[in-house]
Amino acid sequence: MKDKSIKQRAKDVKQKPEERIKNFREVAEGYTEEQAVFESTRCLQCRKPPCVKGCPVEIDIPGFIKKISEKKFDEALNVIYNTNLLPAICGRVCPQETQCEERCTLARKGQPIAIGKLERYVADRGGQHISYSVPADRSVMRHKVAVVGSGPAGLACAAELAKCGVKVTIFEALHEPGGVLTYGIPEFRLPKKVVKREIDLLVKLGVEIKTDMIIGKTLTVDDLFTMGYRSVFIGSGAGLPSFMGVPGENLLRVYSANEFLTRVNLMKGYLFPEYDTPVITGERVAVIGGGNVAMDSARSALRLGAKEVYVLYRRTENEMPARKEEYEHALEEGIKFAFLVQPREILGDENGYVNGIKVIHNELGEPDESGRPRPVPIPDTEEIIPVDSVIVAIGQNPSPLIPATYSNLKTGRKGNIEVDEETCETNVPWIFAGGDIATGAATVISAMGMGRKSARSILKRLQNPETDK
Ligand code: FAD
Ligand code: SF4
Repeated sequence: MKDKSIKQRAKDVKQKPEERIKNFREVAEGYTEEQAVFESTRCLQCRKPPCVKGCPVEIDIPGFIKKISEKKFDEALNVIYNTNLLPAICGRVCPQETQCEERCTLARKGQPIAIGKLERYVADRGGQHISYSVPADRSVMRHKVAVVGSGPAGLACAAELAKCGVKVTIFEALHEPGGVLTYGIPEFRLPKKVVKREIDLLVKLGVEIKTDMIIGKTLTVDDLFTMGYRSVFIGSGAGLPSFMGVPGENLLRVYSANEFLTRVNLMKGYLFPEYDTPVITGERVAVIGGGNVAMDSARSALRLGAKEVYVLYRRTENEMPARKEEYEHALEEGIKFAFLVQPREILGDENGYVNGIKVIHNELGEPDESGRPRPVPIPDTEEIIPVDSVIVAIGQNPSPLIPATYSNLKTGRKGNIEVDEETCETNVPWIFAGGDIATGAATVISAMGMGRKSARSILKRLQNPETDK
């Protein structure tokens, strides 16, 4: 292995923890040109690059990194755009450490290439234009396709179709597009101007976005076909929060993470009183869960002024599904973690406000169906933690509205829309689905991968409209 491979990766600058807990500005500032070029020269340009296999949208990773090393930044961005039109978003929130970077050849001996940070760098730098080629078969260009939901799945599907000249309309229930990127992930991890910039690119490609349109209420799926849309892609996400089913969950100041983060992000609660959305947490907050949603809730509560924030997780640090970087950021910021505990009851005062949470301690048992050790409560280990509010972040389920109002669609055990693995087509011809509505809560890039796959299948069907499934 070449000597340069053992160099440490370039480190970017981050806001200091004691500063950043007082604001919602982005934590990591990203690479400078010098850092990006340095980092790019560490890449070995592997002939059979394993990193690409780890990317659900198969970005030509060595290709764009080489362009950075040559300081051809616009060209680097266009290499990424070939398969991913949301690089500034993915560069920030994708779990690269378990995908492309985990497979990087350099990971075996030292630090893998910082692929995500390089992706973010070229995307933030911005390009001149998106280069793409109109397909040889232009017959698809006369068709209209409807995309339901403007999260990563819908955006990726729309982008891929629009690049081929198909007329795409996205129907979004909320007043802003972006899905979780807009209403869930906080500003300090993913600034909304970054999300807007990448969505604007899609609009420049010709994608029409209609907000405040709830499919299943404002219009039905059948209406979309009647309006002349040849195919429908459903990317309506997993917006249905799970609850614990313990006593006290209806007390005042018990939030689902979904509601809490929507108030903070979409309704701009973090800018109160400039925006009229007060989000009251009190001084001591308990967040239940161990994923990215729990980290985002805990860190947001801290920034909103809570003095102490506890994350209560029923397994150990090793099983926590949150990204390692986000967990480390939370620790640096002073979030307290209690492992191997699970709530038994939320306690309230005479006015119905939360004033404590009763938990029981666990030990790890045999693996459950997820393959992780099952948390087993230890008898007589209950204790009460005094808190003013509780945020429940234990998972989200597929949004039920479309399956409920279009009952022809086959759904799975958890209410997810079932799709063909190869094509993402549902049991109803010409209706495709992808992202969290099909898989249950997953990741941005897996949703984008399914959006892209669906677009390719839709294009095939548009080219051969007579073929059945
Ligand atoms: P969504 O992003 O949920 O988008 C669905 C869209 O459909 C929404 O805009 C919704 O309003 C709209 N919609 C729903 N029903 C209808 C309807 N009937 N009519 C019209 N529109 C409708 N993943 C990562 O990879 N990295 C992270 O760091 C990360 N952090 C996360 C933090 C939080 C707080 C959350 C909640 C999730 C996080 N995830 C993360 C997961 C990731 O965001 C999701 O897996 C991804 O957004 C799923 O994309 P999607 O397009 O399927 O759905
Ligand atoms: Fe470069 Fe790592 Fe990919 Fe090899 S595996 S091409 S070193 S990023």
